[in-house]
Amino acid sequence: MDATDVAVIGAGVAGLACARALEQSGLHVRVLERSARVGGRVGTDLIDGFRCDRGFQWINAGHPDVRAAVDVAALNPRPVEPGMVLAHPDGYRILHGSQAALIATIRSGLGQPQDIARLLRWTEPLRKPPARMLAGADMTLAESLDRHGISGRIREEVLRPFFRLVFADEDLRTSYQFAMLGMQALRMGMPALPALGMQAVPNQLALGLDHPVEHGIDVLGVTRSTGEGVRILTDGGKISARAAVVATDPTTASSLLGLGIPTMRGLSTWWFATEVPPTTMKMPFVNPMGPATGPISHALVVSNIAPRYAPTGQHLVSACSVPTPGKDVGTETEAEVRAQLAQIFRTDTSRWGLVNRNAHSAAWPTARPPLILGREVDLGDGLFVAGDHRETPSIPGAMRSGQRAAAAVLEELGEPAKP
Ligand SMILES: Cc1cc2nc3c(=O)[nH]c(=O)nc-3n(C[C@H](O)[C@H](O)[C@H](O)COP(=O)(O)OP(=O)(O)OC[C@H]3O[C@@H](n4cnc5c(N)ncnc54)[C@H](O)[C@@H]3O)c2cc1C
Repeated sequence: MDATDVAVIGAGVAGLACARALEQSGLHVRVLERSARVGGRVGTDLIDGFRCDRGFQWINAGHPDVRAAVDVAALNPRPVEPGMVLAHPDGYRILHGSQAALIATIRSGLGQPQDIARLLRWTEPLRKPPARMLAGADMTLAESLDRHGISGRIREEVLRPFFRLVFADEDLRTSYQFAMLGMQALRMGMPALPALGMQAVPNQLALGLDHPVEHGIDVLGVTRSTGEGVRILTDGGKISARAAVVATDPTTASSLLGLGIPTMRGLSTWWFATEVPPTTMKMPFVNPMGPATGPISHALVVSNIAPRYAPTGQHLVSACSVPTPGKDVGTETEAEVRAQLAQIFRTDTSRWGLVNRNAHSAAWPTARPPLILGREVDLGDGLFVAGDHRETPSIPGAMRSGQRAAAAVLEELGEPAKP
């Protein structure tokens, strides 16, 4: 039976961040990955010279957990302009990512003067230090908006599109506290695309490992034997380890470890090529009128942000659909998507070339209230778990969970952590 100090199961950003931290403390680590690629839910497909990320995604290049895990500068991050363009039927409203811009939007006819005071109270946690930000009972976004008396156009045509854009939330059931954390992270951070695509993030983590990731290994079972470490059953044989970290997606983690499965958000993304970009802006355009007017929630000319997402002379547009509750992911048709994009960008989309589309029914955990940060990663007797379902449903959350799992393994094995 093959042996190692630690087996990390899954080469998503959680598993890779974990493996790297363990290796830095001198342990022998094997990373076992089922697929042929590192990154799991983070990745980029190269199609005819276009870089299509595995869905509409960006990295918060200013987030402390991202900066702790990767060399952000080496990713050459190209910032997304903070804010969003509300593509109203009566004209565009540009909402730059600031409180002053939000107030100006309300004054532009989307709300009443009293809405300003209500919104300021609703966003009060953002102005508190992090430790006090999460004080008090959590609730859904819908409950928090009801309590603050926020309704009408500001709720439906500004806040809802924003929640779809950032949380793929179509039912307002996301945790209010999680939303506040996410909004603070956006405000303090820097949403960006790596110049060469999101795949650059896990690639960098994997290249930093002493031992290459072992691809094509499907882990079928993990068992503890008290005092003797952990046995890992794979489709190619058995591996023994002093400790194992299950860093798979939440559903697989659940079947390997018997944990509860979080409900997951779904979304689908379409990628189109055009010689003439519909805008030069580096901000997402959102559909403020909701799913009744078409399937597309928001769209972005990604090559305006990171030109190397498209070959010379071409541009790449990504468009995202967030299903309404009870509807399957990815049921929208190409004709519906083109028609909606024509409305959003006020241009003819009939000659745009379809480059790719992908649908994720399990993109990330829903983050329903109550928000629980830092779920247990040490399951006892040498078995550990990491992944976005242990922290916040995001790339920084997954990375943080990996580093927490690594610290717990080092403590269990009595190994000194790297100072
Ligand atoms: C379309 C989309 C858009 C997103 N947008 C953003 C965004 O803009 N910003 C953001 O911060 N987050 C975003 N996210 C969420 C983010 O990508 C995830 O939260 C994060 O990548 C989860 O990482 P992970 O390592 O926990 O899990 P995963 O990425 O799921 O990695 C798990 C790995 O385990 C492997 N594996 C599974 N089972 C086995 C097995 N039995 N044996 C061996 N290996 C196995 C898988 O192949 C995979 O490589 C998005 C996700 C999606 C899908």
